Amino acid sequence: MTIATTAIQPKVLKQGDSKGSGMVLHYTTPKGANVYGIGNPLTWENTLGPIWTYVVEADKLTLVDTAVGGTMDTFQSGLEAIGYRPEDIQRVILTHGHLDHDGNTFDILWRSGGELWAHEVYKSLLDINRVQTERDFHAQFLGLNSGEDSLSQRSMEHEEMRKHLCVARPFKEGDRAGDFVFHHTPGHTPEEICIQFQGVVFTGAHILPMITPQPSLKASHDVFRHLFHESYRQENNLYGLLVYLRNLRRMSRMGPDVPIMPSHRVYYRDQFNLLTLSRAEEIIDHHMKRLGLIVDLLRNEPMSVTDITLKHFRGAYLKGRGFYMAMTEIFGHLELLDDTGDIEFIETNQAVRWTGTENYKRVLDGLGAEADNRIW
Ligand SMILES: [Zn+2]
Repeated sequence: MTIATTAIQPKVLKQGDSKGSGMVLHYTTPKGANVYGIGNPLTWENTLGPIWTYVVEADKLTLVDTAVGGTMDTFQSGLEAIGYRPEDIQRVILTHGHLDHDGNTFDILWRSGGELWAHEVYKSLLDINRVQTERDFHAQFLGLNSGEDSLSQRSMEHEEMRKHLCVARPFKEGDRAGDFVFHHTPGHTPEEICIQFQGVVFTGAHILPMITPQPSLKASHDVFRHLFHESYRQENNLYGLLVYLRNLRRMSRMGPDVPIMPSHRVYYRDQFNLLTLSRAEEIIDHHMKRLGLIVDLLRNEPMSVTDITLKHFRGAYLKGRGFYMAMTEIFGHLELLDDTGDIEFIETNQAVRWTGTENYKRVLDGLGAEADNRIW
């Protein structure tokens, strides 16, 4: 069990399964507010574990994330264990627009009449089928084929639901409301946020125990930028691994001892994983190692993106949709190495060659330093 010294120990209000599904936890923030975590199941086969939604007793009863569509029963019985009903939710704040985070938003707000708050970039993307758009782009220009699976169908249905949402309060980096401070931390998705509240930080999928989210691809900025407010259009600060790592460093600099409330793996295999913002540095290290392994593969000869993926990942990771995920992950790392001048794409993005440098080490070490600002 990993327990950082200053992580908050929750009380268990309701037991769940060995991964925390159905579990309800009660945390008290350093400043004395009540926050409750509800472990909501995913509705497809997965290794993520449940999605944790948080009920926050702030100036208004606030819900951070709404879990997967069609799981209102578990959510409602979790709420009942705390003493609330869905009708009591006055405000929903979304960390980002993946279907395990905002799936029940329409159902909850329709019942409660509460307000929806999300980053302004989330609002800009409400009317399009972003998953399909991204997959089409990956297939057409990057040669990354996702294939069809039940999750694609689910994503389509989810995106239809999202078209009915109305963001009452679109916010941006640094905005404050009561005790909430919103930090824009894109990289996994362009609208992702972390939320500071009374000495804790809700980290969504930006910072997770045990695992790390898949970074988006930098190339996606070209596909979506016309949809965003002008301030997000010119320079890419929304997509890709480098953007993700920069935002991890930014969060870790807020204070390594600040307790985090993440969206997954709070409890897993009968154990708690209670962490602080110092976890962000472990994730940066993880990506540093992966970049090093990729460069090692390329030392002797150029390789195709497919071959790098097959050599870097093994067995179970490469089955079915796993191969697309693995190849996208490798592509994201290659984009960063391309930016730092350590590799070059050849054969229209299908293969790469090492340039003989390892600038990426210096760039990652310097993330967050003044000099890092916009070198790349
Ligand atoms: Zn996500």
